[in-house]
Amino acid sequence: MRKKIFRSEIAVAMAVLLVSLLVAGSFLYGYFNKTQSVQLKEELNLVSGIVDEYGEDYLKKPDSDVFRFTLIQPDGTVIFDTKAEPNKMDNHLDREEVKEALVNGQGSSARYSPTLAEKNFYEAVRLRNGNILHIGVSQVSIGTLAAEMFPSIMAIILTAVILAFLLSKKMAKSIVRPLYETDLDSPSECDGYEELTPFLKKINKQHKQIKKQMLELRQRSDEFEQITSCMNEGLVILDKNGMILSMNGAAKKLFNVQEPPVGQDFMTVDRDETMTEAVTEALNGKQSSFCREQNASEYRFIVNGTESGGKILGVVILCIDITESAFAERNRKEFTANVSHELKTPLQSIIGSAELLENGIVKPEDTKKFIGNIRKEALRLVLLIDDIIRLSQLDEGGKPATEPVDIYEAAVEVLDTLTPSADKQNIQLELDGAHCEIKSIGRYIYEIIYNLCDNAIRYNKPGGKVTVTLKKSDESVSIQVSDTGIGIPPEHQPRVFERFYRVDKSHSIETGGTGLGLSIVKHAVSYLGGTVRLESTVGVGTTVLITFPDADGNI
Ligand code: ADP
Repeated sequence: MRKKIFRSEIAVAMAVLLVSLLVAGSFLYGYFNKTQSVQLKEELNLVSGIVDEYGEDYLKKPDSDVFRFTLIQPDGTVIFDTKAEPNKMDNHLDREEVKEALVNGQGSSARYSPTLAEKNFYEAVRLRNGNILHIGVSQVSIGTLAAEMFPSIMAIILTAVILAFLLSKKMAKSIVRPLYETDLDSPSECDGYEELTPFLKKINKQHKQIKKQMLELRQRSDEFEQITSCMNEGLVILDKNGMILSMNGAAKKLFNVQEPPVGQDFMTVDRDETMTEAVTEALNGKQSSFCREQNASEYRFIVNGTESGGKILGVVILCIDITESAFAERNRKEFTANVSHELKTPLQSIIGSAELLENGIVKPEDTKKFIGNIRKEALRLVLLIDDIIRLSQLDEGGKPATEPVDIYEAAVEVLDTLTPSADKQNIQLELDGAHCEIKSIGRYIYEIIYNLCDNAIRYNKPGGKVTVTLKKSDESVSIQVSDTGIGIPPEHQPRVFERFYRVDKSHSIETGGTGLGLSIVKHAVSYLGGTVRLESTVGVGTTVLITFPDADGNI
Protein backbone atom coordinates (compact mmCIF):
# COMPACT_ATOMS: atom_id res chain seq x y z
CA MET A 1 0.00 0.00 0.00
CA ARG A 2 2.83 2.37 0.91
CA LYS A 3 4.47 1.71 -2.45
CA LYS A 4 1.21 2.38 -4.26
CA ILE A 5 0.69 5.66 -2.45
CA PHE A 6 4.30 6.58 -3.11
CA ARG A 7 3.98 5.80 -6.83
CA SER A 8 0.69 7.73 -7.11
CA GLU A 9 2.21 10.75 -5.40
CA ILE A 10 5.24 10.70 -7.70
CA ALA A 11 2.93 10.38 -10.76
CA VAL A 12 0.76 13.28 -9.60
CA ALA A 13 3.81 15.44 -8.86
CA MET A 14 5.27 14.70 -12.30
CA ALA A 15 1.97 15.38 -14.08
CA VAL A 16 1.56 18.69 -12.21
CA LEU A 17 5.15 19.61 -13.04
CA LEU A 18 4.72 18.85 -16.76
CA VAL A 19 1.42 20.74 -17.02
CA SER A 20 2.96 23.69 -15.13
CA LEU A 21 5.92 23.70 -17.48
CA LEU A 22 3.66 23.61 -20.56
CA VAL A 23 1.38 26.36 -19.26
CA ALA A 24 4.33 28.51 -18.20
CA GLY A 25 6.09 27.85 -21.52
CA SER A 26 3.11 28.79 -23.67
CA PHE A 27 2.45 31.88 -21.53
CA LEU A 28 6.07 32.96 -21.84
CA TYR A 29 6.01 32.31 -25.59
CA GLY A 30 2.87 34.46 -26.07
CA TYR A 31 4.21 37.20 -23.84
CA PHE A 32 7.51 37.20 -25.61
CA ASN A 33 5.84 37.50 -29.03
CA LYS A 34 3.65 40.35 -27.88
CA THR A 35 6.60 42.19 -26.43
CA GLN A 36 8.55 41.61 -29.63
CA SER A 37 5.72 43.05 -31.73
CA VAL A 38 5.49 46.16 -29.52
CA GLN A 39 9.27 46.56 -29.63
CA LEU A 40 9.15 46.23 -33.43
CA LYS A 41 6.66 49.04 -33.69
CA GLU A 42 8.56 51.27 -31.30
CA GLU A 43 11.85 50.64 -33.15
CA LEU A 44 10.23 51.44 -36.51
CA ASN A 45 8.67 54.66 -35.19
CA LEU A 46 11.99 55.71 -33.72
CA VAL A 47 13.98 54.92 -36.83
CA SER A 48 11.38 56.49 -39.17
CA GLY A 49 11.49 59.67 -37.09
CA ILE A 50 15.25 59.79 -37.38
CA VAL A 51 15.16 59.04 -41.11
CA ASP A 52 12.54 61.76 -41.67
CA GLU A 53 14.75 64.19 -39.78
CA TYR A 54 18.23 63.28 -40.94
CA GLY A 55 17.72 61.49 -44.21
CA GLU A 56 17.82 57.92 -45.42
CA ASP A 57 21.59 57.63 -45.04
CA TYR A 58 21.05 56.94 -41.35
CA LEU A 59 19.88 53.50 -42.33
CA LYS A 60 23.24 52.62 -43.81
CA LYS A 61 24.71 52.47 -40.31
CA PRO A 62 22.29 50.27 -38.51
CA ASP A 63 23.20 49.29 -34.96
CA SER A 64 20.87 46.32 -34.74
CA ASP A 65 21.39 42.82 -36.04
CA VAL A 66 18.01 41.81 -34.80
CA PHE A 67 15.86 43.92 -37.10
CA ARG A 68 15.94 44.05 -40.87
CA PHE A 69 15.22 47.43 -42.41
CA THR A 70 14.06 47.83 -46.00
CA LEU A 71 13.38 51.06 -47.85
CA ILE A 72 10.72 50.82 -50.56
CA GLN A 73 9.60 53.32 -53.11
CA PRO A 74 5.85 53.95 -53.48
CA ASP A 75 5.91 51.75 -56.61
CA GLY A 76 7.23 48.81 -54.55
CA THR A 77 10.86 48.98 -55.75
CA VAL A 78 13.31 48.16 -52.97
CA ILE A 79 15.97 50.81 -52.78
CA PHE A 80 17.71 49.72 -49.61
CA ASP A 81 17.91 46.64 -47.42
CA THR A 82 20.12 46.04 -44.39
CA LYS A 83 20.64 42.37 -45.18
CA ALA A 84 20.42 42.00 -49.01
CA GLU A 85 21.24 43.61 -52.31
CA PRO A 86 18.14 45.78 -53.23
CA ASN A 87 18.44 45.12 -56.99
CA LYS A 88 18.14 41.40 -56.38
CA MET A 89 14.96 41.79 -54.41
CA ASP A 90 11.39 41.47 -55.67
CA ASN A 91 8.90 44.27 -55.89
CA HIS A 92 7.31 44.69 -52.46
CA LEU A 93 4.11 46.39 -53.54
CA ASP A 94 2.06 43.20 -53.05
CA ARG A 95 3.02 42.96 -49.41
CA GLU A 96 0.15 43.53 -47.11
CA GLU A 97 1.91 45.81 -44.59
CA VAL A 98 3.34 47.91 -47.51
CA LYS A 99 -0.10 48.30 -49.08
CA GLU A 100 -1.56 49.26 -45.73
CA ALA A 101 1.23 51.82 -45.05
CA LEU A 102 0.75 53.43 -48.48
CA VAL A 103 -2.92 53.90 -47.68
CA ASN A 104 -2.94 54.48 -43.88
CA GLY A 105 0.61 55.59 -43.22
CA GLN A 106 1.29 52.48 -41.16
CA GLY A 107 0.78 48.78 -41.68
CA SER A 108 1.67 45.49 -40.13
CA SER A 109 1.44 41.78 -40.91
CA ALA A 110 2.79 38.43 -39.90
CA ARG A 111 3.67 35.61 -42.26
CA TYR A 112 4.69 32.04 -41.76
CA SER A 113 7.55 30.70 -43.77
CA PRO A 114 7.15 26.96 -44.32
CA THR A 115 10.68 26.64 -45.71
CA LEU A 116 12.29 28.17 -42.66
CA ALA A 117 9.59 26.81 -40.33
CA GLU A 118 9.40 30.19 -38.66
CA LYS A 119 7.05 33.12 -38.36
CA ASN A 120 8.05 36.65 -39.34
CA PHE A 121 6.57 39.93 -38.13
CA TYR A 122 6.55 42.95 -40.41
CA GLU A 123 5.83 46.61 -39.82
CA ALA A 124 5.81 49.38 -42.45
CA VAL A 125 5.55 53.17 -42.11
CA ARG A 126 5.28 55.89 -44.76
CA LEU A 127 8.06 58.42 -44.57
CA ARG A 128 7.54 62.08 -45.19
CA ASN A 129 9.09 61.69 -48.67
CA GLY A 130 6.47 59.05 -49.55
CA ASN A 131 8.87 56.10 -49.37
CA ILE A 132 7.98 53.18 -47.14
CA LEU A 133 10.28 52.15 -44.29
CA HIS A 134 9.83 48.44 -43.68
CA ILE A 135 11.05 46.50 -40.67
CA GLY A 136 10.96 42.74 -40.15
CA VAL A 137 11.91 40.36 -37.43
CA SER A 138 11.72 36.57 -37.04
CA GLN A 139 9.66 35.26 -34.23
CA VAL A 140 11.59 33.15 -31.79
CA SER A 141 10.57 29.51 -32.45
CA ILE A 142 9.38 27.23 -29.71
CA GLY A 143 12.36 24.98 -30.40
CA THR A 144 14.76 27.87 -29.89
CA LEU A 145 12.92 28.90 -26.80
CA ALA A 146 12.96 25.35 -25.48
CA ALA A 147 16.62 24.93 -26.34
CA GLU A 148 17.47 28.08 -24.49
CA MET A 149 15.37 27.10 -21.51
CA PHE A 150 16.54 23.48 -21.50
CA PRO A 151 19.14 23.69 -18.68
CA SER A 152 16.72 25.62 -16.47
CA ILE A 153 13.90 23.15 -17.23
CA MET A 154 16.14 20.21 -16.46
CA ALA A 155 17.23 21.80 -13.19
CA ILE A 156 13.59 22.39 -12.27
CA ILE A 157 12.61 18.81 -13.20
CA LEU A 158 15.53 17.34 -11.26
CA THR A 159 14.78 19.41 -8.18
CA ALA A 160 11.10 18.55 -8.47
CA VAL A 161 11.84 14.82 -8.82
CA ILE A 162 14.14 14.78 -5.78
CA LEU A 163 11.68 16.80 -3.72
CA ALA A 164 8.72 14.70 -4.89
CA PHE A 165 10.65 11.50 -4.09
CA LEU A 166 11.58 12.60 -0.58
CA LEU A 167 8.24 14.16 0.28
CA SER A 168 6.20 11.33 -1.27
CA LYS A 169 8.15 8.75 0.72
CA LYS A 170 7.58 10.65 3.93
CA MET A 171 3.93 11.31 3.16
CA ALA A 172 3.24 7.70 2.16
CA LYS A 173 4.82 6.59 5.42
CA SER A 174 2.79 8.99 7.52
CA ILE A 175 -0.45 8.04 5.66
CA VAL A 176 0.11 4.36 6.23
CA ARG A 177 1.39 4.60 9.82
CA PRO A 178 -2.07 4.81 11.49
CA LEU A 179 -3.11 1.74 9.48
CA TYR A 180 -0.09 -0.19 10.67
CA GLU A 181 -0.67 0.95 14.21
CA THR A 182 -4.28 -0.21 14.10
CA ASP A 183 -4.67 -3.08 16.57
CA LEU A 184 -7.16 -5.44 14.91
CA ASP A 185 -7.46 -7.44 18.13
CA SER A 186 -9.11 -4.48 19.81
CA PRO A 187 -10.41 -2.41 16.88
CA SER A 188 -12.71 -0.35 19.10
CA GLU A 189 -9.66 1.28 20.74
CA CYS A 190 -8.18 2.49 17.44
CA ASP A 191 -8.42 6.24 16.66
CA GLY A 192 -6.60 6.32 13.30
CA TYR A 193 -8.67 7.53 10.35
CA GLU A 194 -12.27 8.52 10.62
CA GLU A 195 -12.91 6.77 7.28
CA LEU A 196 -11.83 3.47 8.85
CA THR A 197 -14.49 3.59 11.58
CA PRO A 198 -17.16 1.53 9.72
CA PHE A 199 -14.54 -0.99 8.72
CA LEU A 200 -13.20 -1.25 12.29
CA LYS A 201 -16.73 -1.52 13.66
CA LYS A 202 -17.36 -4.45 11.33
CA ILE A 203 -14.13 -6.12 12.39
CA ASN A 204 -15.04 -5.56 16.04
CA LYS A 205 -18.42 -7.21 15.47
CA GLN A 206 -16.81 -10.14 13.70
CA HIS A 207 -14.27 -10.43 16.52
CA LYS A 208 -17.04 -10.77 19.06
CA GLN A 209 -18.82 -13.36 16.90
CA ILE A 210 -15.63 -15.38 16.42
CA LYS A 211 -14.90 -15.24 20.17
CA LYS A 212 -18.40 -16.51 20.93
CA GLN A 213 -18.14 -19.29 18.36
CA MET A 214 -14.69 -20.27 19.61
CA LEU A 215 -16.00 -20.47 23.17
CA GLU A 216 -18.89 -22.67 22.05
CA LEU A 217 -16.53 -24.84 20.05
CA ARG A 218 -14.14 -25.18 23.00
CA GLN A 219 -17.02 -26.10 25.30
CA ARG A 220 -18.24 -28.74 22.86
CA SER A 221 -14.76 -30.07 22.33
CA ASP A 222 -14.23 -30.23 26.14
CA GLU A 223 -17.54 -32.05 26.57
CA PHE A 224 -16.63 -34.45 23.78
CA GLU A 225 -13.20 -35.07 25.31
CA GLN A 226 -14.63 -35.62 28.78
CA ILE A 227 -17.19 -38.10 27.47
CA THR A 228 -14.71 -40.00 25.32
CA SER A 229 -11.96 -39.97 27.96
CA CYS A 230 -14.22 -42.03 30.24
CA MET A 231 -14.63 -44.70 27.59
CA ASN A 232 -12.86 -48.02 28.03
CA GLU A 233 -12.89 -48.40 24.26
CA GLY A 234 -10.34 -46.57 22.16
CA LEU A 235 -11.88 -43.97 19.86
CA VAL A 236 -10.05 -42.41 16.92
CA ILE A 237 -11.63 -39.88 14.57
CA LEU A 238 -10.10 -39.14 11.18
CA ASP A 239 -11.05 -36.50 8.62
CA LYS A 240 -12.00 -37.26 5.02
CA ASN A 241 -8.33 -37.45 4.06
CA GLY A 242 -7.47 -39.95 6.76
CA MET A 243 -5.79 -37.30 8.96
CA ILE A 244 -6.17 -37.59 12.73
CA LEU A 245 -8.76 -35.27 14.28
CA SER A 246 -8.90 -36.74 17.77
CA MET A 247 -7.94 -39.73 19.89
CA ASN A 248 -9.34 -40.47 23.33
CA GLY A 249 -7.24 -41.59 26.31
CA ALA A 250 -7.80 -45.30 25.71
CA ALA A 251 -6.74 -44.95 22.05
CA LYS A 252 -3.61 -42.99 23.04
CA LYS A 253 -2.63 -45.81 25.39
CA LEU A 254 -3.45 -48.44 22.81
CA PHE A 255 -1.37 -46.83 20.04
CA ASN A 256 1.38 -45.72 22.48
CA VAL A 257 1.20 -41.97 21.81
CA GLN A 258 1.61 -39.24 24.43
CA GLU A 259 -0.31 -36.59 22.52
CA PRO A 260 -2.52 -37.35 19.53
CA PRO A 261 -0.68 -36.23 16.39
CA VAL A 262 -3.62 -34.13 15.18
CA GLY A 263 -3.43 -33.27 11.47
CA GLN A 264 -1.09 -36.15 10.67
CA ASP A 265 -1.84 -39.25 8.66
CA PHE A 266 -3.18 -42.12 10.80
CA MET A 267 -0.47 -44.28 9.23
CA THR A 268 2.09 -42.45 11.41
CA VAL A 269 0.36 -44.11 14.38
CA ASP A 270 -0.62 -47.49 12.92
CA ARG A 271 1.14 -48.94 9.88
CA ASP A 272 -0.68 -52.27 9.96
CA GLU A 273 -1.79 -53.31 6.47
CA THR A 274 -5.23 -54.53 7.57
CA MET A 275 -5.87 -51.23 9.37
CA THR A 276 -4.77 -49.19 6.32
CA GLU A 277 -7.11 -51.24 4.10
CA ALA A 278 -9.97 -50.83 6.58
CA VAL A 279 -9.47 -47.02 6.68
CA THR A 280 -9.38 -46.87 2.88
CA GLU A 281 -12.60 -48.91 2.69
CA ALA A 282 -14.27 -46.71 5.31
CA LEU A 283 -13.33 -43.64 3.24
CA ASN A 284 -15.20 -45.34 0.40
CA GLY A 285 -18.24 -45.84 2.61
CA LYS A 286 -17.70 -49.49 3.63
CA GLN A 287 -17.65 -50.61 7.25
CA SER A 288 -15.14 -53.23 8.28
CA SER A 289 -14.10 -54.97 11.44
CA PHE A 290 -11.12 -57.13 12.32
CA CYS A 291 -9.37 -58.55 15.38
CA ARG A 292 -5.71 -58.12 16.16
CA GLU A 293 -3.35 -58.52 19.06
CA GLN A 294 -2.09 -55.18 20.37
CA ASN A 295 -0.07 -54.48 23.53
CA ALA A 296 -0.39 -58.15 24.59
CA SER A 297 -4.20 -57.95 24.47
CA GLU A 298 -6.78 -58.97 21.92
CA TYR A 299 -8.66 -56.09 20.27
CA ARG A 300 -11.55 -55.80 17.84
CA PHE A 301 -11.26 -52.74 15.56
CA ILE A 302 -14.48 -51.44 14.01
CA VAL A 303 -13.69 -48.98 11.22
CA ASN A 304 -16.61 -46.99 9.92
CA GLY A 305 -16.98 -44.02 7.58
CA THR A 306 -19.27 -41.17 8.66
CA GLU A 307 -21.24 -39.53 5.90
CA SER A 308 -23.65 -36.69 5.42
CA GLY A 309 -25.64 -36.04 2.27
CA GLY A 310 -23.86 -38.90 0.50
CA LYS A 311 -20.45 -37.37 1.20
CA ILE A 312 -17.86 -39.02 3.45
CA LEU A 313 -16.95 -36.63 6.26
CA GLY A 314 -14.45 -38.82 8.05
CA VAL A 315 -13.72 -42.15 9.69
CA VAL A 316 -14.44 -43.41 13.19
CA ILE A 317 -12.26 -46.22 14.57
CA LEU A 318 -13.58 -47.98 17.65
CA CYS A 319 -11.11 -50.28 19.45
CA ILE A 320 -12.69 -52.78 21.84
CA ASP A 321 -10.63 -54.90 24.23
CA ILE A 322 -11.92 -58.45 23.73
CA THR A 323 -9.08 -60.20 25.58
CA GLU A 324 -11.37 -61.60 28.26
CA SER A 325 -14.16 -62.62 25.94
CA ALA A 326 -11.68 -64.08 23.42
CA PHE A 327 -9.97 -65.98 26.24
CA ALA A 328 -13.33 -67.17 27.57
CA GLU A 329 -14.37 -68.21 24.08
CA ARG A 330 -11.14 -70.15 23.58
CA ASN A 331 -11.57 -71.75 27.00
CA ARG A 332 -15.16 -72.64 26.25
CA LYS A 333 -14.24 -74.31 22.97
CA GLU A 334 -11.33 -76.13 24.57
CA PHE A 335 -13.51 -77.17 27.54
CA THR A 336 -16.29 -78.45 25.29
CA ALA A 337 -13.80 -80.47 23.28
CA ASN A 338 -12.19 -81.82 26.46
CA VAL A 339 -15.53 -82.66 28.11
CA SER A 340 -16.68 -84.54 25.02
CA HIS A 341 -13.46 -86.46 24.98
CA GLU A 342 -13.51 -87.17 28.74
CA LEU A 343 -17.14 -88.35 28.59
CA LYS A 344 -16.59 -90.40 25.50
CA THR A 345 -13.71 -92.46 26.91
CA PRO A 346 -15.58 -94.12 29.86
CA LEU A 347 -18.74 -94.41 27.75
CA GLN A 348 -16.86 -96.28 25.01
CA SER A 349 -15.38 -98.54 27.67
CA ILE A 350 -18.87 -99.21 29.11
CA ILE A 351 -20.34 -99.84 25.63
CA GLY A 352 -17.45 -102.17 24.73
CA SER A 353 -17.82 -104.25 27.92
CA ALA A 354 -21.63 -104.37 27.55
CA GLU A 355 -21.35 -105.55 23.91
CA LEU A 356 -18.96 -108.30 24.83
CA LEU A 357 -21.30 -109.45 27.63
CA GLU A 358 -24.31 -109.21 25.35
CA ASN A 359 -22.70 -111.31 22.62
CA GLY A 360 -21.68 -113.98 25.11
CA ILE A 361 -18.05 -113.59 24.15
CA VAL A 362 -17.00 -113.14 27.79
CA LYS A 363 -16.15 -116.29 29.66
CA PRO A 364 -18.40 -116.88 32.67
CA GLU A 365 -15.44 -116.51 35.05
CA ASP A 366 -14.63 -113.07 33.51
CA THR A 367 -18.20 -111.74 33.67
CA LYS A 368 -17.69 -110.24 37.13
CA LYS A 369 -14.57 -108.42 35.98
CA PHE A 370 -16.42 -106.89 33.00
CA ILE A 371 -19.39 -105.83 35.13
CA GLY A 372 -16.92 -104.33 37.64
CA ASN A 373 -15.34 -102.38 34.77
CA ILE A 374 -18.73 -101.05 33.70
CA ARG A 375 -19.42 -99.94 37.26
CA LYS A 376 -15.98 -98.30 37.59
CA GLU A 377 -16.38 -96.37 34.32
CA ALA A 378 -19.92 -95.37 35.24
CA LEU A 379 -18.65 -94.10 38.60
CA ARG A 380 -15.96 -92.16 36.78
CA LEU A 381 -18.64 -90.63 34.61
CA VAL A 382 -20.61 -89.63 37.68
CA LEU A 383 -17.53 -88.06 39.25
CA LEU A 384 -16.76 -86.23 36.03
CA ILE A 385 -20.27 -84.95 35.65
CA ASP A 386 -20.24 -83.85 39.30
CA ASP A 387 -17.02 -81.90 38.73
CA ILE A 388 -18.37 -80.36 35.51
CA ILE A 389 -21.50 -79.27 37.34
CA ARG A 390 -19.42 -77.73 40.15
CA LEU A 391 -17.23 -75.89 37.68
CA SER A 392 -20.14 -74.59 35.67
CA GLN A 393 -21.78 -73.39 38.88
CA LEU A 394 -18.59 -71.48 39.70
CA ASP A 395 -18.42 -70.19 36.10
CA GLU A 396 -21.95 -68.90 36.25
CA GLY A 397 -20.75 -66.65 39.06
CA GLY A 398 -24.00 -66.72 40.94
CA LYS A 399 -23.55 -65.31 44.43
CA PRO A 400 -24.33 -67.88 47.10
CA ALA A 401 -25.02 -66.26 50.46
CA THR A 402 -22.10 -66.05 52.89
CA GLU A 403 -22.39 -67.67 56.29
CA PRO A 404 -20.17 -68.31 59.30
CA VAL A 405 -17.97 -71.26 58.34
CA ASP A 406 -15.73 -73.18 60.73
CA ILE A 407 -12.75 -74.21 58.58
CA TYR A 408 -11.63 -76.73 61.17
CA GLU A 409 -15.05 -78.43 61.05
CA ALA A 410 -14.91 -78.49 57.25
CA ALA A 411 -11.40 -80.07 57.31
CA VAL A 412 -12.51 -82.69 59.85
CA GLU A 413 -15.46 -83.58 57.59
CA VAL A 414 -13.19 -83.90 54.53
CA LEU A 415 -10.65 -86.04 56.31
CA ASP A 416 -13.46 -88.30 57.66
CA THR A 417 -14.72 -88.80 54.11
CA LEU A 418 -11.25 -89.53 52.73
CA THR A 419 -10.03 -91.80 55.54
CA PRO A 420 -11.11 -95.05 53.72
CA SER A 421 -9.13 -94.21 50.59
CA ALA A 422 -6.15 -93.02 52.71
CA ASP A 423 -6.24 -96.23 54.69
CA LYS A 424 -6.16 -98.25 51.46
CA GLN A 425 -2.70 -96.81 50.75
CA ASN A 426 -1.67 -96.70 54.37
CA ILE A 427 -1.50 -92.92 54.30
CA GLN A 428 -1.58 -91.00 57.52
CA LEU A 429 -3.89 -87.96 57.70
CA GLU A 430 -3.10 -85.15 60.12
CA LEU A 431 -4.93 -81.91 60.96
CA ASP A 432 -3.12 -78.99 62.67
CA GLY A 433 -4.90 -75.93 63.97
CA ALA A 434 -7.94 -75.02 66.02
CA HIS A 435 -11.56 -74.09 65.44
CA CYS A 436 -11.68 -70.91 63.45
CA GLU A 437 -14.81 -69.35 62.08
CA ILE A 438 -14.83 -67.11 59.05
CA LYS A 439 -17.57 -65.51 57.00
CA SER A 440 -17.53 -67.47 53.78
CA ILE A 441 -19.35 -70.04 51.63
CA GLY A 442 -19.24 -73.43 53.37
CA ARG A 443 -19.67 -75.48 50.17
CA TYR A 444 -16.66 -73.75 48.49
CA ILE A 445 -14.43 -74.18 51.56
CA TYR A 446 -15.32 -77.89 51.66
CA GLU A 447 -14.59 -78.27 47.86
CA ILE A 448 -11.19 -76.58 48.26
CA ILE A 449 -10.05 -78.75 51.17
CA TYR A 450 -11.55 -81.91 49.67
CA ASN A 451 -9.88 -81.56 46.24
CA LEU A 452 -6.47 -80.69 47.77
CA CYS A 453 -6.60 -83.60 50.24
CA ASP A 454 -7.93 -86.00 47.58
CA ASN A 455 -4.95 -85.12 45.32
CA ALA A 456 -2.54 -85.33 48.29
CA ILE A 457 -3.75 -88.92 48.91
CA ARG A 458 -4.01 -90.03 45.27
CA TYR A 459 -0.56 -88.73 44.30
CA ASN A 460 1.09 -89.93 47.52
CA LYS A 461 3.35 -92.89 48.11
CA PRO A 462 2.15 -95.87 50.14
CA GLY A 463 2.86 -95.15 53.81
CA GLY A 464 3.00 -91.43 53.13
CA LYS A 465 1.48 -88.54 55.05
CA VAL A 466 -0.97 -85.71 54.41
CA THR A 467 -0.98 -82.70 56.73
CA VAL A 468 -3.71 -80.05 56.77
CA THR A 469 -2.63 -76.89 58.60
CA LEU A 470 -5.11 -74.12 59.41
CA LYS A 471 -3.88 -70.71 60.55
CA LYS A 472 -5.65 -67.51 61.45
CA SER A 473 -3.91 -64.22 62.18
CA ASP A 474 -5.19 -60.64 62.38
CA GLU A 475 -4.38 -60.17 58.72
CA SER A 476 -5.35 -63.45 57.08
CA VAL A 477 -6.69 -66.96 57.18
CA SER A 478 -4.77 -69.80 55.53
CA ILE A 479 -5.30 -73.45 54.64
CA GLN A 480 -2.22 -75.47 53.82
CA VAL A 481 -2.27 -79.04 52.49
CA SER A 482 1.11 -80.83 52.33
CA ASP A 483 1.90 -84.35 51.23
CA THR A 484 4.94 -86.57 50.98
CA GLY A 485 3.93 -87.79 47.51
CA ILE A 486 5.41 -88.00 44.02
CA GLY A 487 5.60 -84.24 43.52
CA ILE A 488 5.04 -82.22 40.31
CA PRO A 489 7.89 -81.51 37.87
CA PRO A 490 8.62 -77.73 37.71
CA GLU A 491 7.61 -77.43 34.00
CA HIS A 492 4.09 -78.72 34.80
CA GLN A 493 3.53 -76.65 37.93
CA PRO A 494 2.20 -73.49 36.16
CA ARG A 495 -0.35 -75.55 34.19
CA VAL A 496 -1.85 -77.99 36.73
CA PHE A 497 -4.67 -75.49 37.50
CA GLU A 498 -5.86 -75.61 33.85
CA ARG A 499 -8.96 -77.69 33.13
CA PHE A 500 -8.21 -81.30 32.24
CA TYR A 501 -4.45 -80.73 32.55
CA ARG A 502 -2.75 -83.76 34.02
CA VAL A 503 0.93 -84.59 34.51
CA ASP A 504 0.27 -88.28 34.09
CA LYS A 505 -3.15 -88.98 32.59
CA SER A 506 -3.21 -92.72 33.22
CA HIS A 507 -2.27 -92.25 36.87
CA SER A 508 -5.01 -89.64 37.23
CA ILE A 509 -7.67 -91.88 35.64
CA GLU A 510 -6.48 -94.92 37.51
CA THR A 511 -6.87 -93.11 40.82
CA GLY A 512 -10.29 -91.70 39.86
CA GLY A 513 -9.14 -88.24 38.86
CA THR A 514 -11.15 -86.10 36.48
CA GLY A 515 -8.52 -83.45 35.68
CA LEU A 516 -10.81 -80.79 37.13
CA GLY A 517 -9.94 -80.84 40.85
CA LEU A 518 -7.36 -78.04 40.89
CA SER A 519 -9.48 -75.95 38.46
CA ILE A 520 -12.34 -76.12 40.93
CA VAL A 521 -9.93 -75.11 43.74
CA LYS A 522 -8.56 -72.15 41.78
CA HIS A 523 -12.02 -70.95 40.81
CA ALA A 524 -13.46 -71.22 44.31
CA VAL A 525 -10.43 -69.52 45.92
CA SER A 526 -10.51 -66.65 43.45
CA TYR A 527 -14.28 -66.29 44.01
CA LEU A 528 -13.62 -66.00 47.76
CA GLY A 529 -10.91 -63.38 47.09
CA GLY A 530 -8.00 -65.57 48.10
CA THR A 531 -4.71 -66.66 46.51
CA VAL A 532 -3.21 -70.08 45.72
CA ARG A 533 0.51 -70.93 45.95
CA LEU A 534 1.91 -74.30 44.94
CA GLU A 535 5.33 -75.60 45.89
CA SER A 536 6.42 -79.05 44.84
CA THR A 537 9.55 -81.16 44.59
CA VAL A 538 9.56 -84.35 42.56
CA GLY A 539 9.88 -87.35 44.85
CA VAL A 540 9.58 -85.25 48.02
CA GLY A 541 6.05 -83.91 48.03
CA THR A 542 3.70 -81.05 47.31
CA THR A 543 2.38 -78.16 49.38
CA VAL A 544 -0.58 -76.02 48.35
CA LEU A 545 -1.18 -72.87 50.39
CA ILE A 546 -4.50 -71.01 50.19
CA THR A 547 -4.63 -67.56 51.79
CA PHE A 548 -7.67 -65.35 52.33
CA PRO A 549 -6.51 -61.80 53.02
CA ASP A 550 -9.46 -60.77 55.16
CA ALA A 551 -9.21 -62.36 58.60
CA ASP A 552 -13.00 -62.38 58.74
CA GLY A 553 -13.04 -64.19 55.45
CA ASN A 554 -15.22 -61.51 53.87
CA ILE A 555 -15.52 -61.84 50.15
P1 ADP B 1 -6.85 -84.89 38.69
O1 ADP B 1 -8.26 -85.17 38.81
O2 ADP B 1 -6.18 -85.48 37.51
O3 ADP B 1 -6.12 -85.05 39.93
P2 ADP B 1 -6.40 -82.13 39.24
O4 ADP B 1 -6.85 -80.94 38.57
O5 ADP B 1 -6.79 -82.29 40.66
O6 ADP B 1 -6.80 -83.33 38.34
O7 ADP B 1 -4.83 -82.12 39.21
C1 ADP B 1 -4.18 -81.89 37.98
C2 ADP B 1 -2.91 -82.67 37.90
O8 ADP B 1 -1.98 -82.17 38.82
C3 ADP B 1 -3.06 -84.08 38.31
O9 ADP B 1 -3.43 -84.90 37.24
C4 ADP B 1 -1.69 -84.42 38.81
O10 ADP B 1 -0.87 -84.83 37.76
C5 ADP B 1 -1.16 -83.16 39.39
N1 ADP B 1 -1.34 -83.09 40.88
C6 ADP B 1 -2.32 -82.46 41.54
N2 ADP B 1 -2.10 -82.53 42.89
C7 ADP B 1 -0.97 -83.22 43.06
C8 ADP B 1 -0.23 -83.64 44.21
N3 ADP B 1 -0.60 -83.36 45.46
N4 ADP B 1 0.90 -84.31 44.00
C9 ADP B 1 1.32 -84.59 42.73
N5 ADP B 1 0.67 -84.25 41.61
C10 ADP B 1 -0.47 -83.57 41.78
